Amino acid sequence: MNAPAGPTRGSHRGAAPFIPPDAGMPDLAVAVQGCRGCDLYQDATQAVFGAGPTKARVMLVGEQPGDQEDRSGEPFVGPAGRLLDTALEEAGFSRPEVYVTNVVKHFRFTRTRGRQRIHKSPARWQVTACGPWLLAELAQVRPDVVVLLGGTAGQAVFGPDFRVTTMRGSVLPWPQDDLPLPSPPWCVPTAHPSAVLRSRHRDEDLAALVADLRVAAGTSAER
Ligand code: SF4
Repeated sequence: MNAPAGPTRGSHRGAAPFIPPDAGMPDLAVAVQGCRGCDLYQDATQAVFGAGPTKARVMLVGEQPGDQEDRSGEPFVGPAGRLLDTALEEAGFSRPEVYVTNVVKHFRFTRTRGRQRIHKSPARWQVTACGPWLLAELAQVRPDVVVLLGGTAGQAVFGPDFRVTTMRGSVLPWPQDDLPLPSPPWCVPTAHPSAVLRSRHRDEDLAALVADLRVAAGTSAER
């Protein structure tokens, strides 16, 4: 994980103290509900941990849970999740084959005067604080390839210079050596499905997302 130097904001220590040593995936999924590694647990309904086979060959990593995910406790179940399912199927995957998670496990939002909750991207320090959970998931799943969905996930791994537009669809080695794996997984960056949903060129952008997912499928098949 690409992390800015220095402590996380205020009194928050990051997620590492909340991760039980030698825990398997079921225990991690329970422990994340007690995480106080940053301030985002305060307003969210619950933490949303990853979902999918523990030995999936492909892991998809998004930004953070949205409104529906926060309520249900499951990742990618809202409109963006449905679009992702469509893209996965067109690329030759099905959702049950892949492990899906986010770089941040609690929903960050603002409220309108009507009290509607509006997504707000996590700050970089919050992404850094939550990073140990993603590393714990990677250590359990040990995927062949990690698909980074959108800029927040890409910057979490490659740093602030990461841009979806210039790096999407490329097969890139994991850039850091902090991953407790015998061989680091490959990464394939692409757009976040919510960006495809908002696009005025949705058909073209969906096709581009499918093309990037096919790159990930090919990378996985080669290993
Ligand atoms: S967002 Fe991550 S680090 Fe912050 S409280 Fe939730 S699980 Fe912990």
